[in-house]
Amino acid sequence: MPPGPRVSRLDAVVVGSGPNGLAAAITLAAAGLSVTVIEGAEVAGGGCRTDSSTLPGFRHDVCSAVHPLVAASPFFRRPVFDGLRRSLCQPAVPFAHPLDGGRAGAAHRSVDETADSLGPDGAAYRRLMGPLVDRAPVIVDQVLGPLRSVPAHPFALARFGLPGVPSARRLASRFECEPARALLAGVSAHSTARLTAPLTGAFGLLLGMAAHAVGWPVVQGGSSGIVAALSAELERLGATVVTGQPVRSLSELPESTAVVLDTSPGGLAALAGPDLPPGYGRALARFRHGPGVCKVDWALSGAVPWSAAVCRRAGTLHLGGTFAEVAHSESEVHAGRHPERPYCIVVQPGVADPTRAPDGHQTLWGYCHVPPGSTVDMTTAIEAQIERFAPGFSELVLARSTRTAAEQEAHNPNLVGGDVGGGAASLGQTLFRPTVSWNPYRTPVRGLYLGSASTPPGGGVHGMCGVFAARTVLHDHFGGPAPFGRR
Ligand SMILES: Cc1cc2nc3c(=O)[nH]c(=O)nc-3n(C[C@H](O)[C@H](O)[C@H](O)COP(=O)(O)OP(=O)(O)OC[C@H]3O[C@@H](n4cnc5c(N)ncnc54)[C@H](O)[C@@H]3O)c2cc1C
Repeated sequence: MPPGPRVSRLDAVVVGSGPNGLAAAITLAAAGLSVTVIEGAEVAGGGCRTDSSTLPGFRHDVCSAVHPLVAASPFFRRPVFDGLRRSLCQPAVPFAHPLDGGRAGAAHRSVDETADSLGPDGAAYRRLMGPLVDRAPVIVDQVLGPLRSVPAHPFALARFGLPGVPSARRLASRFECEPARALLAGVSAHSTARLTAPLTGAFGLLLGMAAHAVGWPVVQGGSSGIVAALSAELERLGATVVTGQPVRSLSELPESTAVVLDTSPGGLAALAGPDLPPGYGRALARFRHGPGVCKVDWALSGAVPWSAAVCRRAGTLHLGGTFAEVAHSESEVHAGRHPERPYCIVVQPGVADPTRAPDGHQTLWGYCHVPPGSTVDMTTAIEAQIERFAPGFSELVLARSTRTAAEQEAHNPNLVGGDVGGGAASLGQTLFRPTVSWNPYRTPVRGLYLGSASTPPGGGVHGMCGVFAARTVLHDHFGGPAPFGRR
């Protein structure tokens, strides 16, 4: 295996260099530990990579593109990431949801501007979102926590939890008109769950609140800038990152006191093999993944001609039409079918970051949900949805590159079946992932920890899963304080 730093026994090895793996390594190295990160892919970064898969001069985010969670995460608030935070480019409109006939709902940076644009639903929007945005810092710290500690601000959390725990469908009943209802459907469907499922409202509220509180930024030059910042910090701390070394068994790893896995639960089971107690192995096998995604990147000869003007200023677009249409699309996916008119998430980074394409050109990023492991290329269906709300789009396409759900997993083993969230976002699995346990980062094997998006607080680029896994290592082996709440 890899050479690693010149020390006889490492304090810690991290397998996997996604944002959580790198955040775990930084937390450990910042505590003075000797750390090596071992990554299977040729390039570090997991879900934070940028490439030119269409044409030279066009920079596409391979996975994550929009980063409210970087802007909000306590991990990225460290002064060493000031430069990264300055490189976050804020679209004037965080997200918009076009409807037929040139109408759209849009989330602006200000709650008032958003409410004013929603006509008869403005007052209901202001009542729902205003108090959350006022309390955003405490709500974010709680939601991006291990979801275990007693809330320091229970009333702020109740403001979020009471409307959020029911489904998005229930939450949408507060609104009379389609722009507000569709806006909520589009943002809630990031959960990948049916819009009738509990907690889908919480996804919508959290991401909607983030649009007002911290924006939905893209990273100047692409999401790989996040990994560049993390890697620079690791280097400064003296840790090593080795790439191109897929790990197949724990026995391949250099000697260390602790190992943190930035892998799926299945990856943990495969690496630890017979070392895992059978009961824990069975619990890991019960872990459920969410639907997959089929993703397309486009090189365009110009900006997308959205019929609704507000969409031309939006970083992210949720396509799919009315609340009922989006809900139907998501339930089709959960029934194992490919929707004819899929709900799509589309990002146009060029509205905020002109560096992604040659002058006068644009990149576009988009995906739709599909059944797990799907090999179906959804490019035609996704492009039909864009064309529906932006007639003339197809004439701008210079080149495209598509990755099916099955290809997502081939590219990164953590994307099981193409699941981008590290696991299904059910109520149970949001609180208890990968198994039901007070400290889900600690495995029954001494010295072995899990710190990927398959642990709380779950998917997205925030690094907090890795941070809590690392704090558990520091507590268990190096005299650190309790990682959170009580043990
Ligand atoms: C298409 C797509 C779009 C997304 N969009 C967004 C977005 O806009 N905003 C957002 O916040 N999030 C987004 N996400 C989710 C986000 O990318 C993930 O939640 C995040 O990257 C999870 O981080 P992680 O460190 O847990 O795992 P990953 O980022 O998946 O990293 C895991 C790493 O571990 C490596 N690895 C796994 N097993 C082994 C092994 N056995 N040996 C060696 N290396 C191994 C993998 O190669 C990979 O590099 C998106 C994801 C995808 C796929």
